[in-house]
Amino acid sequence: MNNNTFAQQKTMLIVDDFEMNRDILQNIFKDEFYILQAENGLVAMEILHEKKTDIDIVLLDLVMPEKDGFTVLKEVRANEELSNIPIVVVSASGEIDGELLSLELGATDFIVKPIKPHIARLRVQNILARKEVDKLRVQHAMMLEQHQKERVLLNLITQSKNEYQKLAEYDQLTGIYNKSMFVQKTEEMLANNPNKSYVLVRFDIEKFKVVNELLGRQEGDALLKHIASILKKDVSTHGTYGRLSSDVFVACFPHSKENVERMVQTYTESMKLYNLNLEIILCFGLYIITDTDVPIDSMIDRANLALQTIKGNYITRYAYYDEALREILMKEQEIVHEMEDALNNGQFKMFLQPKCELKDGSIVGAEALARWEHPTKGFIPPGKFIPVFEKNGFIMALDQFIWEEACKLLKKWIDKGESVLPISVNISRVNLFNPQLSSIIANLAEKYGIPPRLLELEITESAYTNNAYLLIDLIHELHENGFTVLMDDFGSGYSSFNMLKEIPVDALKIDLRFLSGNDILGRGEQILESIVNMSHAINLPTIVEGVETKSQVDFLQSIRCNRAQGFYFYRPMPVEEFETTLHSHKKKES
Ligand code: C2E
Ligand code: CA
Ligand code: CA
Repeated sequence: MNNNTFAQQKTMLIVDDFEMNRDILQNIFKDEFYILQAENGLVAMEILHEKKTDIDIVLLDLVMPEKDGFTVLKEVRANEELSNIPIVVVSASGEIDGELLSLELGATDFIVKPIKPHIARLRVQNILARKEVDKLRVQHAMMLEQHQKERVLLNLITQSKNEYQKLAEYDQLTGIYNKSMFVQKTEEMLANNPNKSYVLVRFDIEKFKVVNELLGRQEGDALLKHIASILKKDVSTHGTYGRLSSDVFVACFPHSKENVERMVQTYTESMKLYNLNLEIILCFGLYIITDTDVPIDSMIDRANLALQTIKGNYITRYAYYDEALREILMKEQEIVHEMEDALNNGQFKMFLQPKCELKDGSIVGAEALARWEHPTKGFIPPGKFIPVFEKNGFIMALDQFIWEEACKLLKKWIDKGESVLPISVNISRVNLFNPQLSSIIANLAEKYGIPPRLLELEITESAYTNNAYLLIDLIHELHENGFTVLMDDFGSGYSSFNMLKEIPVDALKIDLRFLSGNDILGRGEQILESIVNMSHAINLPTIVEGVETKSQVDFLQSIRCNRAQGFYFYRPMPVEEFETTLHSHKKKES
């Protein structure tokens, strides 16, 4: 019989040197067990080694030739694979010592010959039942262990999930909410309090880059943490707050003038005490939430728009978003929407404003200025669209258009064989990051056969302070191609004469409007005079722009200024008008 055929039936190994004994036992157990027989300990061990735990129980005689029952017991209990198999010692009555010894050696139970079948059966049943219970117990213990393991694993997973969530929800540096969490929590707060009026605040540190450089990165980080801790203390009970990026924080809480002023006040005072050697200024942009359907992101943008109106203004620390700002935003959007078509449809025009000799008002050149001739809105001044184009990069396309217009006009003049005046064009600072810039301009001049000296390039002063090295390289490149570079709006920024040593510009354009104003002490005039004097000293030609009155002209002449540009002489005008003006001028002269 094959053990496998009775997969459910248990297997019993009967070990006895007397065949008759073996048969008696077989008869008793044959209905419940698949029986294997061994005539001595040696054969028994062979079978055990072969079948291992397929043997469910062993009935073992003690006294046998070859290998006796004691040795079998010892060997089985010492063998890791076999030690759990129940062994019932079957021994003649009176073998008390054997009984004891075999129990000591690990026999599971004891049956005494002559065998009483029902007692034998009961004992074996009990043993197997006990084994079953033990097995269940082991299984249960194993399950418990597994369960424990799973729990630990589960804990680990939730822990790392929490960590991950923390990463996803909290700003690493300050431990307060990051943007997405701020948005979510604010949405919830607004939804849960439909009857309350809230304000959304976006604020940052004025010139944080500079502060960071002065304090050092670590101190800069500490400052940000400090700001976050104030938010936590002041806002956590009634509002939401978070950090958007570097020095940009947001908060949302019930709106009242007092709440807002208290916040601004708290921060202003805290910043005063935070670092006594450095003035740290925070600016706040506020948006009163009137419409909760506006996405939080847009609310943040609106607060930012308000914030931008007070940037660089050291007196006002906070500003509200209002309808006027909305209007500006809408107009900007309109401009962005229309700009490309406008360029393709020829709505942009080059105007020219003459540059004049102060002593006699004769025209010595012109500046090209862009105008947008809108089909329905009329002329839009550059102040309205240039800043928008600088923000979105479209200025590069417009500038190139104007440069090309200037080149075309110069070519027309050259072809007519007239004496040709130089035209200066503006180069927005946005272009400076274009490594192709000088080759674009050189190619244009070449395409129209323009001597480079006729196309002058105006680069505004503020570009020099922010990107000095980039600019120095660029100016060298432009010089190599034969172009002239003018520093535009000198006096509007923070340039010093010292800088001019390193920046090889060919001329300065000084804007009167940045210097004079209503200064009763006449300091502006004094500054202008010293600028002009110093320019003479270093052989740097100057031209003064924004000249509007006769008295300004007189003053400029008195300080040995030679050239000027301004409404006093001419306003910017269409090309045809410029040409007729020029001709009538020449006629007057001759
Ligand atoms: P800007 O380069 O300083 O140009 C001179 C501005 O001063 C012109 O303003 C001109 O009309 C104005 N102006 C000239 N004389 C007087 C005066 O006596 N009184 C007053 N109040 N203003 C005077 P405009 O044409 O409105 O241009 C403003 C600015 O827009 C320009 O300042 C320039 O920065 C920019 N811009 C104009 N066209 C272009 C362009 O094609 N490309 C670039 N990148 N910028 C341009
Ligand atoms: Ca200019
Ligand atoms: Ca200027």
